[in-house]
Amino acid sequence: MNFQSGYIAVVGRPNVGKSTLVNELIGQKLSITSHRPQTTRHRINAIDTQENYQMVFVDTPGIHIGNNKAINSYMNKAASSSFADVDMIIWLVEIFKWTKEDARVLEHLSKVDIPVIICVNKIDKSGSVDKILPYLEILGEKFKANEVFPLSAFDRSHTKQLRGLILKYLPEQDPIYDEDFITDRSQKFVVSEFIREKLMRNLSNELPYDITVEIEKFELDGKMYRIAARIFVDKASQKSIVIGHKGEMLKKIGQDSRITIEGFLEAKVFLELWVKVRQGWSDDKRALASLGYD
Ligand code: GDP
Ligand code: MG
Repeated sequence: MNFQSGYIAVVGRPNVGKSTLVNELIGQKLSITSHRPQTTRHRINAIDTQENYQMVFVDTPGIHIGNNKAINSYMNKAASSSFADVDMIIWLVEIFKWTKEDARVLEHLSKVDIPVIICVNKIDKSGSVDKILPYLEILGEKFKANEVFPLSAFDRSHTKQLRGLILKYLPEQDPIYDEDFITDRSQKFVVSEFIREKLMRNLSNELPYDITVEIEKFELDGKMYRIAARIFVDKASQKSIVIGHKGEMLKKIGQDSRITIEGFLEAKVFLELWVKVRQGWSDDKRALASLGYD
């Protein structure tokens, strides 16, 4: 067997588990995840290179409905452009939970003619195993996929089987990326995303999703990284939420971020965080472009 490689877009509505699945498939934390629907904003390639294959997973923001802000149209574009120029698609849906947004994804997918594997995620939550098969049949009637595979993204044996399924469809060709690449994004980008993840997780629903992170300093000092980042929020009231009582929230976000960043960079990290108000950035195309959303 020759070498196999290719791009695999992971698509599906927000919160269905796309980023979680991508991290589990490559065996490393790269994509950020949280229970909040708008966690992933940028497309990121996560690369798994083995002796016989290279899988390039394209993690995407989900498609959002009913909000016309510039940031939403950016995310929708990033999501639907990922259907083009890939070799195959993993479409993630959630067991027993079909929404309008799933229907929207289905609409997009009916136009593609590359292999599609439907992964029915979160079966660990479903309880009633005997109802899974009929549900898969209903799905199969909605859309003619090459495979329908029920799984839990957290279950190693499931992700292993899924890799086997992917290899049935991955083209035979040379690797696309150097074998030591795990992503197409810079370390700076990944680090800023990790900080955004901790903001989303720690602030839960108090936090507006209009929040962004800009890395101002990223230096290797001996064996240690010195990183400074600025957190942009929309309003002064949001700034005080992020900072928290006596600065405790920001401290916690800094600690959580540092641990994840140290795991990624495999080095000690000194991290400084600042919070700044930038009014209306999420609805301003120019401000978005200056923060890398172009
Ligand atoms: P995305 O928006 O599609 O990228 O979804 P995320 O990967 O950010 O996951 C959304 C939430 O679903 C997170 O809280 C995950 O921990 C959770 N999740 C993902 N996969 C599973 C799974 O197989 N089982 C369960 N119970 N939760 C999952
Ligand atoms: Mg995601």
